[in-house]
Amino acid sequence: MVSGAIKSKRVGRATLNNGVVTTAYRAVVPHKCAQCAGTIPPSALLSRRAPRALLTATGATPVPICVTCRPLHLDSAGSGDAD
Ligand SMILES: [Zn+2]
Repeated sequence: MVSGAIKSKRVGRATLNNGVVTTAYRAVVPHKCAQCAGTIPPSALLSRRAPRALLTATGATPVPICVTCRPLHLDSAGSGDAD
């Protein structure tokens, strides 16, 4: 098993409801939201963030968060969609 394998594709920059800019991803395989434990189906948007308890840990793996928990506002300006 390869650590850090990509199971989602980067969509571009997005803004959260609290104004924080993050990176939006589109799921390639089903993900489990780290906040509500709901399923994030393939093709659905998600965001990622480091687990709170692991913020200081080297190499902490960002966990997926569904758009129900953290609504995203995609910002298509200035970001490529071919990445
Ligand atoms: Zn969720």
